Amino acid sequence: MASDAPLVDAPELLSELRRTFQSGRTKSQEWRLEQLHALLKMVMEQEDEIGKALSLDLGKSAYETYSCELALLIDSCKLAIKSLKKWMTPEQVSIALATVPSTAMIRPEPFGVALIISAWNFPIILALDPLVGAIAAGCAVVIKPSEIAPATSAFLSKMVPVYMDKEAIRVVEGGVQQITALLDQKWDKIFFTGNAKVGRIIMAAAAKHLTPVTLELGGKCPLYIDSTVDLKVAAKRIVIGKWGSSCGQACISPNHLLVEESFVPKLISTLKKTIVDFYGEDPHTSKDLAHVVNKNHFKRLTALLDDPSTADKIIHGGERDEESLYIAPTLLLDVPLDAPIMNEEIFGPILPIITVKGPEEAIDMIADQPKPLAIYVFTNDKVVQDQMVSKTSSGGMVINDAVLHFVCTSLPFGGVGESGMGAYHGKASFDAFSHRKSILYRGMSVEVYARYPPYTTKKQQI
Ligand code: NAD
Repeated sequence: MASDAPLVDAPELLSELRRTFQSGRTKSQEWRLEQLHALLKMVMEQEDEIGKALSLDLGKSAYETYSCELALLIDSCKLAIKSLKKWMTPEQVSIALATVPSTAMIRPEPFGVALIISAWNFPIILALDPLVGAIAAGCAVVIKPSEIAPATSAFLSKMVPVYMDKEAIRVVEGGVQQITALLDQKWDKIFFTGNAKVGRIIMAAAAKHLTPVTLELGGKCPLYIDSTVDLKVAAKRIVIGKWGSSCGQACISPNHLLVEESFVPKLISTLKKTIVDFYGEDPHTSKDLAHVVNKNHFKRLTALLDDPSTADKIIHGGERDEESLYIAPTLLLDVPLDAPIMNEEIFGPILPIITVKGPEEAIDMIADQPKPLAIYVFTNDKVVQDQMVSKTSSGGMVINDAVLHFVCTSLPFGGVGESGMGAYHGKASFDAFSHRKSILYRGMSVEVYARYPPYTTKKQQI
């Protein structure tokens, strides 16, 4: 249904939402709290239905559904409910001498009517977590879920109007045609999650109306590891970071490993053992491993694996079954850097391992690539940690783990350069949908006459 959903009357939809926004209803603290509670209620009451949709779309286990989507969303709602008053309170700031007497305030105000366009790999949280920010900020919103996760898109389209204010929060299903119609309109904010190619389309459409955008894009997140770490712990964290979130189909999954030469054999054998410990001798039978999202992505991934540059570099896994969209957790060793798999975001269960001489070579390799969404560094050497932090640029970083920065609501989450612009999570979500309006309240008791012409010599001496 999602991709062939009927086209909405976009101008009419937008003017309805604009009327609601202009009425001022969404700006009140009461409305924001009520809608945040309604969202929380929907997530809690509909856990089973959400689980079914995610299982249909991606084969996600109940555990992964809860830990990677619902738990985070519940935390976000609760934090926004708890912090809303504080976030909404205008901030008093210092004044310039020339303005005495006065008071200077920064008052957050909602951008207006926002469009949230989300991706398929975490189709609940990527649609609803930005919604938390939009509601908290006081915006009216349209959510356009990904058509590539049709069961989840249908769930959102059916249930959001049941729980939430239909005159202010709408879900529009559909694919490119639908988005194109929506993007023709003037929005006050567009929040997009997806790939950088489409990100450029979104930004170009937004530019016509000078609409501000947040672009949550992807990229190839590198992971550097050296021999100073506790190998067993590191291997567990790498395996769960790669295959535990949507089977490698996560924007923050480690894309490839950069490994100190002498350490490669030990790391490989521990990674292999850990994969078997987690997913069994035949991961195809594991209930804890999601599947590839659809046939197109299955074909894309198997073509990368079967490329002559790559096919003989498989050191673990490589098995696949098109019917069930299964590709085994697969390790590759020293694929040539010009191989197709090293030149696009893998976004699937394949993990290339590249041998490097040490941290300097890893830093050079990272710098040669577009800025990633995340960099992971496994080392207990503080000097190397500092080098990696200060000499590389990325949306975020985790030292001695992978992926987990996503769950810290105190850390703004977003990309830089090719991996995106803007950020969200926690207070940053509120900020993403708010304009910080500067207001100077002037008193009238003091006048500086030198301000006014005629500018006599005497005045100029003051
Ligand atoms: P996708 O195909 O679901 O597309 C994302 C959205 O863009 C969808 O709603 C889709 O309808 C829309 N879209 C697709 N083609 C379009 C077009 N031509 N014009 C206008 N809109 C269009 O998802 P995807 O882009 O394949 O998602 C995967 C990418 O997203 C990866 O690069 C991944 O790293 C990135 N991602 C980033 C984050 C993040 O938080 N930074 C999260 C998840 C995914």
